[in-house]
Amino acid sequence: MIKRMVIVSLVLFLASCASTQKKTDHDDGTLTKAEMEFINSAEKMRVFKNNSADDNSVLRVVSKKALINSSGYDILEKKMMESLIEEKGVGIAAPQVGVNRRLIIVQRLDKENKPFEYYYNPVITERSGEMIEGWEGCLSVPSGFGKVKRVQDIKIEYDKLNDGKIETVKEQITGFTAVIFQHEIDHLDGILFIDKKCDGDLMPKEEYYEMRKKQKEAEAAANAAKSE
Ligand code: ZN
Repeated sequence: MIKRMVIVSLVLFLASCASTQKKTDHDDGTLTKAEMEFINSAEKMRVFKNNSADDNSVLRVVSKKALINSSGYDILEKKMMESLIEEKGVGIAAPQVGVNRRLIIVQRLDKENKPFEYYYNPVITERSGEMIEGWEGCLSVPSGFGKVKRVQDIKIEYDKLNDGKIETVKEQITGFTAVIFQHEIDHLDGILFIDKKCDGDLMPKEEYYEMRKKQKEAEAAANAAKSE
């Protein structure tokens, strides 16, 4: 009996340790020492690809909160932007450079001068309108492009600094920019567009670029004909 009680209390003790551990692990969004070292370790942060098992395991994790005004995020922002520009993308999420934190960059194609902007802990609070099929590619999916159905009208919330205080900003986003937000926020939950893509194989990247080029030429020719 005593032995049994010891075992039971030992189990309870271990269980309470586990929950304490969980509590101390509770993330306030500050970067860990290991994350800081990783961010600082390379001059450039490479983009993780889903055709590598190691990379894919990072891409498939639900990312943790990001604390906007805490140490190291300025460097992460800068390096994510460098990777995005180099790869000529319109958006990138922190897990794509190997950091499982809820931070994304989206090119605001809906704004004047199309600026790249950072979003901390972005959440989609509402999706509306019909689902429209459109081509999508991803810096982390080298095998090609695919058609994905998404809504074109969303409401989002994210953290922003205002006079040193973090406040929640609400915004409505429409059109292709809304698609970029959905794609990037999916990354924070370990989801890739290939999980959602419509039927059919991916179109290899070269083939896709060729198709887009032909489409643009056809559009230009049609516009020229119109103006004659
Ligand atoms: Zn992507």
